[in-house]
Amino acid sequence: MIDLLVTGGAVLTADAADTYVPDGAVAIADRRIVAVGPAAGLGARFPGAPTLDARGCLVLPGLVNAHSHAAMTLFRGTADDVDLQVFLDRLVAAESAVLSAEVVRAAVRLALAESIRAGVTTAMDMYWFPEAGLEAAADAGFRLVTGPTFMDVPGPPDGLDFAARLRLAPELLARTAIRCVTPHSTYTLDPDRLLAVAELAREHGALLHIHAAENAAEAQTVRRRHGRRPVELLHHLGLLGPGTLLAHAVHLTDEEIGLIADSGASVAHCPVSNLKLASGVARLPELLAAGVPVGLGTDGAVSANALDLFGPIRAAATLHRVGSGAAPDPTLVGARTAVRMATVDGARAIGIGALTGSIEVGKAADLVVLDLNRPHLTPRHDPWSMLAYAAGPADVRDTVIDGRIVLRDRRLLTIDEGSAIEEVEALAGALRKRAGGPSRTT
Ligand SMILES: [Zn+2]
Repeated sequence: MIDLLVTGGAVLTADAADTYVPDGAVAIADRRIVAVGPAAGLGARFPGAPTLDARGCLVLPGLVNAHSHAAMTLFRGTADDVDLQVFLDRLVAAESAVLSAEVVRAAVRLALAESIRAGVTTAMDMYWFPEAGLEAAADAGFRLVTGPTFMDVPGPPDGLDFAARLRLAPELLARTAIRCVTPHSTYTLDPDRLLAVAELAREHGALLHIHAAENAAEAQTVRRRHGRRPVELLHHLGLLGPGTLLAHAVHLTDEEIGLIADSGASVAHCPVSNLKLASGVARLPELLAAGVPVGLGTDGAVSANALDLFGPIRAAATLHRVGSGAAPDPTLVGARTAVRMATVDGARAIGIGALTGSIEVGKAADLVVLDLNRPHLTPRHDPWSMLAYAAGPADVRDTVIDGRIVLRDRRLLTIDEGSAIEEVEALAGALRKRAGGPSRTT
């Protein structure tokens, strides 16, 4: 017996052969995908199975957000249209003033409601109070990959100094199924601290996720302080390797691209955040040509505002045609590569390619059912094109994570959406009052 048969839709598997089954089905048992194929064959093989009718829909792998700060939903809209330094100053001050485990849990819950509605089933997350984020994710049935966070700022929201945070980290790592540690960057942590965090990651077999080379000012700051550019410094310290995921990686020299590729490290490309903060255009075509695994991230809701991946997919597919400094080239990146970056390549980039990212037997049952009965998704010539250039989060009808339906017919089943919105709106009201701003926006 199986637990669920998602049947009747076109299935885009994103497997190595890009298998597409026009009238397909996916069988799920014990949270895993146990069969993929034509609907008629699977219907006969599993008679009487509970079904999710996907006729008129596209079934695709759950989307993977390779870089996020989920709890920043609380600060969405508070630091728009400013440069990265103003953005960081404003954000860090607000975080120090209001964050607690309870506040993070509420803000993450809202982020997960938004993410599940947008077909995101996994997110790599870096933020304060990671244990609160993990609790919210467990309640929502969402795969949030996060772990101990390290960032030296005046007045950290959790009041912990570096030594205390390092001492507490193993306990959190022992409780997480997918282990990662998230040192913020080479400009907010000194080399000795980066080395200590890397040692922690090694001891626990954890992925090391760090911002690197997001903008030109960062590269200059790190070079001035340490004599090396961010990626050079990470290489010098022995922090680049197959267990390292770099967020952004916008400002790279040819040599640094070579260092990343040779080390086996991955990159989380966040084009919408990079555009909004004018951080620059990442050298994505060169990274891909060098064989670097690249996933797509939203970044936090302060820098990118929306937590769906359709925006980053479209930006990644199109931006690099004019933005890399070379001659304009309409064949660069494109729909298929961008969609694979948001699914199977993203899962690989965050170190869980064997678990999720594609619809294949043995992988976790992470699926999205996209409603195609929409004017902007008609006609159905090419699913890759549709996903990259026309689809949006509102087209997601159902989301399945780890075999569990968490969004059905556009209704969230694991999060009380009304209370999630109310709770964050109340927290945001208190935040505005504290800042002396208007208590109500129009
Ligand atoms: Zn970030």
